[in-house]
Amino acid sequence: TEKTMDKIVALCKNRGFIFAGSEIYGGLANTWDYGPLGVELKNNIKKAWWKKFVQENPYNVGQDAAILMNPQTWVASGHLAGFSDPLMDCKECKERFRADKLIEQWCQENGVELPKPIDAFSQQEMKDFVEDKNIPCPSCGKHNFTDIRQFNLMFKTFQGVTEDAKNTVYLRPETAQGIFTNFVNTQRTTRRKLPFGVCQIGKSFRNEITPGNFIFRVREFEQMELEFFCKPGTDLEWFNYWRTFCHNWLLGIGLKDENLRLRDHDPEELCFYSKATTDFEFLFPFGWGELWGVADRTDYDLTQHQNTSGKDLTYFDPETNQRYIPYVVEPSLGVERSVLAVLCDAYDEETVDESKNDVRVVLHLHPALAPYKAAILPLSKKLSEPARKIYEELSKEWMLDFDETGSIGKRYRREDEVGTPFCITVDFDTVGDAEKAGDNCVTVRERDSMEQVRVPISQLKEYLAERLAY
Ligand code: ATP
Repeated sequence: TEKTMDKIVALCKNRGFIFAGSEIYGGLANTWDYGPLGVELKNNIKKAWWKKFVQENPYNVGQDAAILMNPQTWVASGHLAGFSDPLMDCKECKERFRADKLIEQWCQENGVELPKPIDAFSQQEMKDFVEDKNIPCPSCGKHNFTDIRQFNLMFKTFQGVTEDAKNTVYLRPETAQGIFTNFVNTQRTTRRKLPFGVCQIGKSFRNEITPGNFIFRVREFEQMELEFFCKPGTDLEWFNYWRTFCHNWLLGIGLKDENLRLRDHDPEELCFYSKATTDFEFLFPFGWGELWGVADRTDYDLTQHQNTSGKDLTYFDPETNQRYIPYVVEPSLGVERSVLAVLCDAYDEETVDESKNDVRVVLHLHPALAPYKAAILPLSKKLSEPARKIYEELSKEWMLDFDETGSIGKRYRREDEVGTPFCITVDFDTVGDAEKAGDNCVTVRERDSMEQVRVPISQLKEYLAERLAY
């Protein structure tokens, strides 16, 4: 069976993972709201990242900076001058495109190999390429495009009551800069020596020209970023360290290696300040797409901020008695793209019974990511009370579902479809009756194998803890 975006979007909508934003007002293009299950999945991904990158990591600490920053930040980072995409319109149907994406897509569809990576094309080269190859408008098929112009992706707003230029502030297009501007604060207060890293999870905003593919490209999204500061000269070593670490983290949350591709930039694709960059790409139903960017950014960012702010951002190295600006390795991961990758990777349709044409939809989510860790299912409404007791006890530890409607088979299927690793059924043997004492056991069904075992209620917590550990 084929995994399609339509199926995944439908499951998300119908099971309360992700809804179209502002739906009752006809929506707001490309905004998405996370429902009861979506918020759990999203939070679990963030928790899994924080656990491995901060909590268990000897090198890194966390922080949470403001979304609105002094506009000088964006002068220093280069976002005000250069954070733009090449925009082009079709003069016939008025459709709007990103020239780079138009070229890439056309090449992919027509089996044409680009002479060099698209990021290495100048604006003029893109225009020439579109003309040389006679690339048509994907929307109307005509060949009449406007010139390419650069469109800045930063969202603007105003701070304070007057809406004039000097009150203009920007919604951050990445979380990283709040880490750089706090470098001295963090280093001083934690008394860290190099190498050390600072992690942050937070919203970023980009006024994308062509958002789409569900939650893959949106204008409001979250990033999980690490800025890892190290001594110049050790940066490539640390780059490789984090490249491997990030790869292992993705495998550790259950993504299949066959759906991942680590694409190293070649020299002409690299940003001028970067010594090495790897894009982690995932095979989405619509093709390979970037999930995670890992880059050796040298001392570019801190140097820019030092020059623009006039503040000393050097580090004193007690081993060599020298002052220098640290180098930085940056792994930058999108939360929404992670959610989408995890959903696409986990989605499956399994034939349970060939003869009955019986197919179950199942999300093989890693237990650490599953919205519900277990579902408590009383076999009959008469068993609600003992089932509730179990629910109350276990929900102190984990997010659980409680479902007492419909046949047990249907309930299992509903839990499979949202990736609940364990179903716990309370039946009449559990509580017993006048003739026969209860066995104080429940039936635990595992999602992937569908195997069922009897587990004493007294051992349930331990049983689950062992299997849900991350
Ligand atoms: P793309 O080429 O897809 O626009 P990018 O190279 O501009 O991405 P970065 O600036 O490296 O992306 O951002 C780091 C990460 O942030 C990306 O790998 C992605 O996971 C996430 N991200 C960036 N832009 C968006 C967006 N518009 N919507 C959702 N996630 C995004």
